[in-house]
Amino acid sequence: MGLQIEVKDLIFGYGGETVLDGISLTIGQGDFIGIIGPNGSGKSTFLKNLAAILTPAAGEIIIDGKALPRWRRRELARRLALVGQGAAAGFNFTVEEMVAMGRYPHVQRFGSFKPTDHRAVERAMHLTGCYHLRERGIFSLSGGERQRVLLARALAQETPCLLLDEPTSFLDLGYQVELLELLRSLNQRERITVVMVMHDLNLASRYCRKLFLLYGGRIHACGDPEEVLTREHILEVYRTEVLIEPHPLDGKPQVIPVSTAQAGPNQNFQQRIHIIGGGGSASPLMKELFARGFSLSAGVLSVGDSDWATARRLGLTMVEEAPFYPISPQRHRQNLELIEKAGAVVLAPVYIGPGNLPNVEAALFALQRKRPLIVIDAAGVAGRDFTGGQGAALYRRLEEGGALFLPRPDADAVIEALFSASSGQ
Ligand code: ADP
Repeated sequence: MGLQIEVKDLIFGYGGETVLDGISLTIGQGDFIGIIGPNGSGKSTFLKNLAAILTPAAGEIIIDGKALPRWRRRELARRLALVGQGAAAGFNFTVEEMVAMGRYPHVQRFGSFKPTDHRAVERAMHLTGCYHLRERGIFSLSGGERQRVLLARALAQETPCLLLDEPTSFLDLGYQVELLELLRSLNQRERITVVMVMHDLNLASRYCRKLFLLYGGRIHACGDPEEVLTREHILEVYRTEVLIEPHPLDGKPQVIPVSTAQAGPNQNFQQRIHIIGGGGSASPLMKELFARGFSLSAGVLSVGDSDWATARRLGLTMVEEAPFYPISPQRHRQNLELIEKAGAVVLAPVYIGPGNLPNVEAALFALQRKRPLIVIDAAGVAGRDFTGGQGAALYRRLEEGGALFLPRPDADAVIEALFSASSGQ
């Protein structure tokens, strides 16, 4: 089972308009591939070229070593099945009749169904949960039911490769997961090659082993989900600011959009804000300010610390120190350089030990360089200071130096303080 597809410099256009502009890729036996990309990027068109419904203007599609035009239709239909986007039948067939059409490439012309054909039809209806609908006319089905019948027809075709165009689009959440689990088990148990156009990036990430990101008729990125679903790629292609978080069960990247109204640079304050944090003290504020379009940097953060993880997911410029090491003079200097180039600095309510005392000194440096400094929860410093009083003493100097003190890491209050400080300068 399984099937190999090779695409070389594929070019396709409707009329004069080029839609696929030089696509080259290889799909191996037993692959589970997701084709993703924004609307109009050519995903359906690509799938229809693979299924020989459309003919390329240039380039080649080679299936199991043989160029596509050399395949006879019936022979190809025994190798590839396409589940399109709910194409309506012209007649109100019953579900069973519709699924039975999947057997046409296996049945002799004018021949009759054999027991193997009946078994394949029944199995396909059982697998897709539409056996109980077998006597219903397809016009009476819901969008989700019809989609399952189309999959059943493709499964009845018993091909080593399934091409699916947004197979989950009309399905509710339960059926989406069920369908993808079914495809995964067919792929794993029977080595069926699956090539699927997917709208939902998070489901694509969890189920597909390899993704091709199409954009403007070209492959913008390809590889495993970790390589393709990066903040940069999503921003380039979907023009949307997102956070990438690992799925709690399997660690696959999950894409969390940040509201488009909030994405893009904040027009009111375009300078960078440098955040001094650690131990999770700065994470909520970093996320809030990031979501509102502020440009941020952070430091010095220990690798593996939760603030470090947040800054990394947000793609911030930051100074990192090795885990459990005190801040080295070199890292401290790099932190000061970031502060020097920032428009304002925020000191989060960090726990202070001898190892990260330089971070509080860095806040003092910000004041010396006339950067507005916002200090969160200075009143609670005594309970967070484990340096024998050195940290608390530095906080007193911050107060004398004119830092703005806020009781909580509340983003609205921070923004208000920033604007009043920068307009008063
Ligand atoms: P996607 O599946 O990524 O949303 P499509 O492959 O459906 O993209 O469409 C790619 C481009 O081709 C779009 O600009 C679309 O308008 C155009 N297109 C799709 N089908 C046709 C068609 N039958 N005739 C003319 N243009 C088409």
